Amino acid sequence: MIFHLDPQTVYISLICGHVFTVVLLSAYHRSESRDRSISIFFTAKLVQSAAWLLMLLKGSLGEWAVISASNTLIFLGTALEAAALLRLQGTLTLRVKKIGAVLVLAAVLTFDTVMLLRNTEELRIVVASVFAALLIAPPALGLLMLKNATMLRRMMGALYTFVAAILLIRALAALFAGETAALLSAGVTDTLFSISAYMTMMLGNTGFVLLAKQKSDEELFKLASLDDLTQIWNRRAFLVRAGAVLDRFAKTGRPVSFLLFDIDGFKGINDTYGHDIGDRVLREMSDTVSGQLGPEDLFGRYGGDEFAVLLPDSSRAESTRLAERIRAAARGSCTLSIGALTFIPEHRSDLERIYKCCDLALYEAKRAGRNRVQRAEAHFDSPDPASVSDLERVRG
Ligand code: GH3
Ligand code: MG
Repeated sequence: MIFHLDPQTVYISLICGHVFTVVLLSAYHRSESRDRSISIFFTAKLVQSAAWLLMLLKGSLGEWAVISASNTLIFLGTALEAAALLRLQGTLTLRVKKIGAVLVLAAVLTFDTVMLLRNTEELRIVVASVFAALLIAPPALGLLMLKNATMLRRMMGALYTFVAAILLIRALAALFAGETAALLSAGVTDTLFSISAYMTMMLGNTGFVLLAKQKSDEELFKLASLDDLTQIWNRRAFLVRAGAVLDRFAKTGRPVSFLLFDIDGFKGINDTYGHDIGDRVLREMSDTVSGQLGPEDLFGRYGGDEFAVLLPDSSRAESTRLAERIRAAARGSCTLSIGALTFIPEHRSDLERIYKCCDLALYEAKRAGRNRVQRAEAHFDSPDPASVSDLERVRG
């Protein structure tokens, strides 16, 4: 089977694809100019389009100058694309930028030196392919090996690794052109290279936009769901998740426990040591409590110095033990009063009543001298538990 793609067609397809991406990205970029990785990717696509355009004009311009200039642009465009991907992964440090710049410089100098000293197509292919693979490899491996990476990140990592592998195969085929000629004709390796360039363009461009969107979705999710100061669930996100747990457990008939706690004398900490130290106490206490919880337990900040923990599948005795452990662990930075309740969930609307009962127990813990755990079952069993404000009114 004859397996050959006409280079002119490949160049025109690549130019069209890149220009199309540039146009779409520039439209998006106008409204989303905060995202630096998109600006870098945008510049990469511009540079790559210019490179393929130069390749197309090879016949009408001086060949030597065009090959040198277009390869310089390809190195630069590949480095910028790698930089955009590294930035999305949060690994584009100053050191990485410097290494990238040195690599591009080395690529350009080696390529031009080869052209000056021994200008054969095979050698040019070896240099261009090896340096391009070196530029792509770091973000490719970074995406592949990222801890807890999403399916999209792993797929993009696999795509770029595949491209780097094709580039290296192309370099090897060119280096050993004589021996491989029978096995792997020049047409096959050129076609493989064209396909890999085309794939990088199609999948890489779409994939990059999806990666950028995924990252901004994650940032928005964090902003909307996590408490700024402590980085645990905010009240709204906690309630949504707690509701889902109650629904799940309503079907199994298994017990769930709820702990509501509040720092003792926190106003005094703020007044004596300042708000910043108060913030630090909140953060340290949250970290300490998180360290006591299991992966299924939910921990959220209800507001101010009030926090809640939902413990799925936890008995009364277990929840008291955990509440005591939390109280003891937090003692390094503050003391806590805790209202604790264990119940068999019936419906998600339970949450309001559960909160009310724990709030009453918490109030009793404060009245009884603070720094203690108070059970809330007595309130939960009463048909219409009073509220804390009712109690405060009665007791003055
Ligand atoms: P009690 O033992 O009765 O709980 O006394 P308390 O002084 O802790 O009283 P309360 O729980 O009502 O005080 C909460 C204080 O928490 C009031 C508010 O100024 C402070 N606060 C709320 N949010 C923050 C915050 O994000 N950072 C800091 N530093 N303080 C906060
Ligand atoms: Mg308090």
